[in-house]
Amino acid sequence: MKTTRALNTKKTEAREFQTRASGIFFTVKDVLYDKRSKFQRIEIIRNKDYGRVLLLDGLVQTTERDEFYYHEMLVHPAMSSHPRPAKVLIIGGGDGGALREVVKLPVKKAWLVEIDGQVIEACREHFPWLRRTFKDARAELVVADGNVFIDKVRETFDVILVDSSDPVGPSTVLHQEAFYRKLKAKLNPGGIVAAQAGSLMLHLDSHARKSAFLRRIFRHASLYLGPVPTYPVGTWCYDFLSDKVAPAKVRTLYIPDGLRYFNREVYPAAFALPNFLAERLAKGKWGLSRPARKPRGGP
Ligand code: SAM
Repeated sequence: MKTTRALNTKKTEAREFQTRASGIFFTVKDVLYDKRSKFQRIEIIRNKDYGRVLLLDGLVQTTERDEFYYHEMLVHPAMSSHPRPAKVLIIGGGDGGALREVVKLPVKKAWLVEIDGQVIEACREHFPWLRRTFKDARAELVVADGNVFIDKVRETFDVILVDSSDPVGPSTVLHQEAFYRKLKAKLNPGGIVAAQAGSLMLHLDSHARKSAFLRRIFRHASLYLGPVPTYPVGTWCYDFLSDKVAPAKVRTLYIPDGLRYFNREVYPAAFALPNFLAERLAKGKWGLSRPARKPRGGP
C-alpha cells in the first residue's frame, strides 16, 4: 500500500496566500518532491526564476535563488558578534542553510534539532549543495522537538539560532516566552540567541508582544531587519538576544570570507528600525491595533 502521495506532476503553479487578499506565486517547471510527513506537507518544486523552492504546508521556506539573504542574516549577526562561538545550537532549520553558514566558522560543534526528519531527507536529496554541510564532522543532526530537546540537553551553548517555521502547529511553542527562558538558561556566559521573527509588515503585533517579553528576559533584546524577496512581504525581522552583547557596542566582527549578503556595513544598518516599528516596540504592548491574524496561509 502506498503510504505517501504520488507526485502531483500536473501542478503548474504554487501559490502562497500571505494575507487573505495577496501573496506570491511560482510557476512550476518540475515537482521534485511532494510527500506528507507526520507534521506537514513537504513540497520541493523547480521554478524558472527561483530554482528549487521548498514549501511546507504551502508556505515558502527557502528558495535556491534567495536563501542566502535569510540564512546569512539569521546566522552571521550573532555569530560574528561572539569572539569564540565554539558550541552552536540550531532549532528547526531542517533545510540545512543555517547549518551551512555556521560551519563556515571554526566552531567545535553544531547541533541541528529539527522535528521533522523528512524535511532533512528531502533537502539532502534535492538541495545537492547542502550534502557536504550535513556530512560536516562537527555537525550533529537530531530529529526532535526543539522545545523538548532544550529541556533535556545537558550542554550549554555559545550561540543558539531559532530557524523555526511561523507560529502554527509544532512551531507555536518556539515563539513563546517560556521557550526563550529555557534558551537563556542554556546559554554560556556571553552567549547570544538569534531567532527569525516574521514579516515586518504582517506581524507587527507579534513583534510588539514578543519584544515586550524578550526585554524582560534578556538585558539586550534588539530586533533587526533584512530583505528576503520570497517571504511575506519582502522584509524579514530577527531577534538578537543576549545578556552581555549589545549590537551597538560590538567593535570587532568575525565574518567568514565569501558571504554574499552580510558584511560590516550591513551589520549596524540592519539594527536601524523604521519609525512605525520603533514606535510600536517602544509602546511595549500589543493589542493596540488589530489582533494578529493567523500567520501566513490560505484564505
Ligand atoms: N525560515 C523559514 C521560514 O520562516 O519560512 C523556516 C525554515 S525551516 C525549514 C523551519 C523548520 O522548523 C521546519 O523544517 C520545521 O519542521 C521545523 N520545526 C517546526 N517546529 C519545530 C519544533 N518544535 N522543533 C524543531 N523543529 C521544528
